[in-house]
Amino acid sequence: MKLGLFGGGRLGVLEPEGVYDVTALAPSGLGGPLAALIASGYPLEAEAVRAQPRIAAADVRWEAPLPRPGKIIGAPANYFEHVDEMPDSATIVEWGVFLKAGTSVTGPDTVVRLPYRDRRTDHEGELAVVIGAGGRDIPREEALDHVYGYTGILDITVRSSEDRSTRKSFDTFSPLGPWVVTADEVGDAGDLGLRLTVNGVVRQESTTAKLIYGIPELIAYASSVMTLEPGDVIATGTPAGVGPIVDGDAVELEIDRIGSLRVTVSDCAAIPYADRPGPGTAARRQ
Ligand code: MN
Repeated sequence: MKLGLFGGGRLGVLEPEGVYDVTALAPSGLGGPLAALIASGYPLEAEAVRAQPRIAAADVRWEAPLPRPGKIIGAPANYFEHVDEMPDSATIVEWGVFLKAGTSVTGPDTVVRLPYRDRRTDHEGELAVVIGAGGRDIPREEALDHVYGYTGILDITVRSSEDRSTRKSFDTFSPLGPWVVTADEVGDAGDLGLRLTVNGVVRQESTTAKLIYGIPELIAYASSVMTLEPGDVIATGTPAGVGPIVDGDAVELEIDRIGSLRVTVSDCAAIPYADRPGPGTAARRQ
């Protein structure tokens, strides 16, 4: 089943014949109806879905399926081919995982806003895992039982000296979507093709079969550090081909059996890096 948000936070199920507005079937709760549905642990029954109002898919403008995840866990340097293009040869085995702010999420067909005029900002196209049942110290062998579904994420990143959690947490830096595909519909996510284009030109093309920490290892490792909760998102890492995005670019991430996530890029609010608040007034070592 493909579940997403539209129309200002309504819950929709995409089927070949259209989109069913299943908002009435979802519990209310923090983080929107999909997050609340995931937290409830109850699946939607196909029969109940088809009894709801139906809209033509062409009339639906999808929003981020999980607009405010409790956690976005990132996997740095999780494809060897991406490690090879970076200045540091360390991998996720050395780095562990990192966190992005939940407020960095934006939806399909929105605008990624570049913060700095004179600092490179990169696209990172990634498969995102959405956690269903939470847990701590989840064994690798049971990890996939904790997956609700999958979606796409762009882990937008400023290349500068700050910590990852800073460089990746600007508002609009986590486009998510276009919808969440439940784990049963995706099947084996261990060999999903993904490709990212900028203005129609392929920049990244790989498969999740090349992940260093696969999905079970990511869940086992992350849950050994922090309790995973329903609706948490794990960005599984980006393959080779990471590159800069600039004002006016159109970025599209396509993942097999999931769909396409498109955004555009704007620098209309960008400032010089040297003008960012802080450094001008920060205490200097005497
Ligand atoms: Mn990344």
